[in-house]
Amino acid sequence: MSLSIPVAPFEGDATLLANVDVVVIGGGIIGISTALTLAERGVSVAVVEKGVVAGEQSARNWGWTRQMGRDPAEIPLTMASLKLWSQMNERTGEETGWRRSGITYLCYNKRDLEIWGGWYEKGKAYGLQSEMLTGPQVEALLPGSSGGLIGGLHTPSDGRAEPTLAAVAMAKAARRAGAHIITQCAARGIEQSAGKVSGVVTEKGRIGCSSVVLAGGVWSRLFAGNLGIDFPQLKVMGTVARVTGARAFPTCRLAPVTLPTASAWMAITRWRSETPISPRSYPTVSGCLPNTCLPSSRHGAS
Ligand SMILES: Cc1cc2nc3c(=O)[nH]c(=O)nc-3n(C[C@H](O)[C@H](O)[C@H](O)COP(=O)(O)OP(=O)(O)OC[C@H]3O[C@@H](n4cnc5c(N)ncnc54)[C@H](O)[C@@H]3O)c2cc1C
Repeated sequence: MSLSIPVAPFEGDATLLANVDVVVIGGGIIGISTALTLAERGVSVAVVEKGVVAGEQSARNWGWTRQMGRDPAEIPLTMASLKLWSQMNERTGEETGWRRSGITYLCYNKRDLEIWGGWYEKGKAYGLQSEMLTGPQVEALLPGSSGGLIGGLHTPSDGRAEPTLAAVAMAKAARRAGAHIITQCAARGIEQSAGKVSGVVTEKGRIGCSSVVLAGGVWSRLFAGNLGIDFPQLKVMGTVARVTGARAFPTCRLAPVTLPTASAWMAITRWRSETPISPRSYPTVSGCLPNTCLPSSRHGAS
């Protein structure tokens, strides 16, 4: 079993530009999609990434592009996001791996049915075409499944992108649209003049700019903290394994995945995410606790 992520290769630009309108710190899916949109709109933009594009969380997630199971406050945003994903291959001219695969949450007991049945009613209010399935309907949808399934929540309009491809596909399109993307180049700080942002200092030199987007993923709290900005953020660790060659649907909870080139399954331990508690965690607790305690947020945490 390999623990490394086979993220698609992307060669960064060799030199820094002296000035751009916007510097984006971080070349994950957030920084790269920001750069793509800005470049398409004619804004000059440079991304600085301390490692490689999608080298961290953005290549390590489950790839779901889902509306299902979200907190109701997020549903309109996820509907808009799904619309963008459905056009992403065409927009970038690249393979992001996005397919409208549908997503199914499996119900093993009455509690699961209550949770997802409750969410089904919320989704309906937003016009989402989810379906509550019976056990036999789930088995028909996922042939070979076993393990005492008594139902499922299925949303046919949800989909999945391929995390090892998506951000890199967008980075290539962003560059064609005029974005500058520099890899192996950490941002060290933000420069201000007369109270305004005037540049970003990186380990390869300075880039003048009037705006900065901090998209540093799990490092954002640290970077913002150096600027005296409190950004409450907790690290959450989960485990996921991708397996190929399974002849039948195993008895644990799985999410079906269709890759552009091969069939694979993702084995996921939902409900099992952990956050290490350290002295640095305590200041964030009051900000994070209300969300982590809400059942709808807890179940829609990816
Ligand atoms: C177990 C799990 C499953 C998930 N499943 C899903 C899912 O199915 N669907 C979904 O939509 N989301 C999912 N997510 C969430 C998703 O993975 C993240 O929201 C997303 O990847 C965050 O992207 P990002 O660009 O903010 O961060 P990252 O991908 O971490 O990118 C941040 C980048 O910033 C760079 N960086 C940091 N500091 C600096 C610096 N000072 N200078 C230069 N570069 C810097 C880092 O090197 C990194 O490459 C999941 C998350 C987890 C933990």
